[in-house]
Amino acid sequence: MEQQATGEGSGASEQGRRLIDAHSHLFGPGIWERVAPVMEAQGIEYIVNLSGGSPRRGMTEALALARDSGGRVINFMNIDWQGFGEVAWAETVAAELELAVRRYGYGGLKVYKALGLGVTDESGALIAVDDPRLFPLWQKAGELGVPVYIHTADPWAFWEPVTPENERYAELSAHPSWSFASPEYPHYSQLLAQRDHLVELFAETTFILVHFASAAEDVDYLDRLLARHPNVYLDISARVPEIGRHDPARVRELFVRYPDRILFGTDIAIGRTARREVLVLGSSGREPATPNQIGEFYARHYEYLETDHRSMAHPTPIQGDWTVDAIRLPASVLDRVYYRNAYDLVVAPWLARNGRDLAVEALGPATGAVDPR
Ligand SMILES: [Zn+2]
Repeated sequence: MEQQATGEGSGASEQGRRLIDAHSHLFGPGIWERVAPVMEAQGIEYIVNLSGGSPRRGMTEALALARDSGGRVINFMNIDWQGFGEVAWAETVAAELELAVRRYGYGGLKVYKALGLGVTDESGALIAVDDPRLFPLWQKAGELGVPVYIHTADPWAFWEPVTPENERYAELSAHPSWSFASPEYPHYSQLLAQRDHLVELFAETTFILVHFASAAEDVDYLDRLLARHPNVYLDISARVPEIGRHDPARVRELFVRYPDRILFGTDIAIGRTARREVLVLGSSGREPATPNQIGEFYARHYEYLETDHRSMAHPTPIQGDWTVDAIRLPASVLDRVYYRNAYDLVVAPWLARNGRDLAVEALGPATGAVDPR
């Protein structure tokens, strides 16, 4: 793939869109050959890979991808929970983050929803999102000046019984483990309270709350959240179906009031395991997505943000049998959401730390897969 995108402002598509997909999951050997055509077709200048692994697991593949991409994939580190409860665990993971950022060109930290819903401590108790035993990590991210992407809770319907009356029945029946409608799980409101406490405690650390902060159901709450916490950002990934159900004027108002605080991201997953090729477009049902659906998946995001279409199909059919109303953002806000916000928050600091060439060189010896020039 031709490398034209050397810095801010050079990646506009034919439609005049400059794009950074600020939320993706890219994994497996030799995966660049499947990522590159998507970036090419959509005019995506940079893509943020939130499945960058950690120094003890998955980093080698993620580095190969970043190198193959010529520095257009920016990896984020995940937490390896093994050993949690050991006295120096958090400081060790914080040191891993520093290593990933300073030595291996990582862009920051991504925390999966398992925090709060799945990861347990040595006594078997769920670890709360604002657990003090994790504080050294958030502190370190702030010191390094890198953002923390954090996924807390899920669509509120996942706390309702999995019956045909549940509006996410199709998705939940394809993925029974996504249901939290059981007393063993904290309620989503508790999880959001823990998360909001965390971002308040670490005001010097930047947090990107993915999936509209898992509160696309409540625009007023999002409004208050952004007003109260200047260190908080949102991404739209996999929640156009939810946010698109509100009065479009109200949603548009939120974007226009906080044009610097909302990031375009799709949650696309492109991967390869020993057994199969993986492609997930925002969410998945029983049938895997196919590559010929990718164009429409992105196009529905553009349609939602750019047009005033009513009752349009949303990007993720499995996430609910309804249509959405598009919000037609002003051009200046659109460019911020599509590009500028992620550039300022993730790409510019990353370039400043590494330089584009240095970032690629820091990734270690080339395998000869693709020449980054
Ligand atoms: Zn994701």
